[in-house]
Amino acid sequence: MTMNMNKTLLLDIDGVLVRDRVLLDHVKNNIVSYVHKKVPSHKNPYNLNNMLYKIYGHTAKGLKKVYKLDTSDFDTEVYDIHVLEHLYDFLETREFKNDSEIVRHVLDIGFDVEFLSNSPLVWSEPVKYAIDRFRIKNKGAYEKPDFDTYLKFDPSREYIFVDDSINNLLPTLSLDNWNQIHFSPTKKSHFIDTVSSMDELLKKIQPRSDRPATSSSDTR
Ligand SMILES: [Mg+2]
Repeated sequence: MTMNMNKTLLLDIDGVLVRDRVLLDHVKNNIVSYVHKKVPSHKNPYNLNNMLYKIYGHTAKGLKKVYKLDTSDFDTEVYDIHVLEHLYDFLETREFKNDSEIVRHVLDIGFDVEFLSNSPLVWSEPVKYAIDRFRIKNKGAYEKPDFDTYLKFDPSREYIFVDDSINNLLPTLSLDNWNQIHFSPTKKSHFIDTVSSMDELLKKIQPRSDRPATSSSDTR
């Protein structure tokens, strides 16, 4: 167990711990509505949002840069009561509870677990509470993929960074103490380790000695 003491598993939330398509589309619809409200002259807010997200990594940041708009109301507009209730429902699902168990196991074998998400606390805190209120670290919204974001982390620790966006993983390739894992249920990346489930992630990071006994040696 002590061999993991210096290791931190950094988890993205959307696309990794929260993968429900309907829920993620709900968030996205709210973002598209926000874009439409802020830039009503644009004929296709859906495409505009995709473009801003792709180039700037965050819609609000893109709106600020391109249109010089005040986007300080982004989080309150996007993460409204309806989408939060939708999140709370998702946190009760079997799928999420299974993944939570895996994250708690990672904590049990000595890893630190921390969220590295661009989402605000109103979104990430319920996820944290549902998994492990006290042991998971969650310092709030980051700005991936800005390089400065990654420099905020302790250079003396070993990080295993799991994200569903290659763009977010790429800047960390130049940091010696960071390992990258692309979370993708569908596509395999050729130059970054890919996992398609939390089960697979656990197998990848868990040293053999920490694995629970297999059923053949189970005496129950
Ligand atoms: Mg993500």
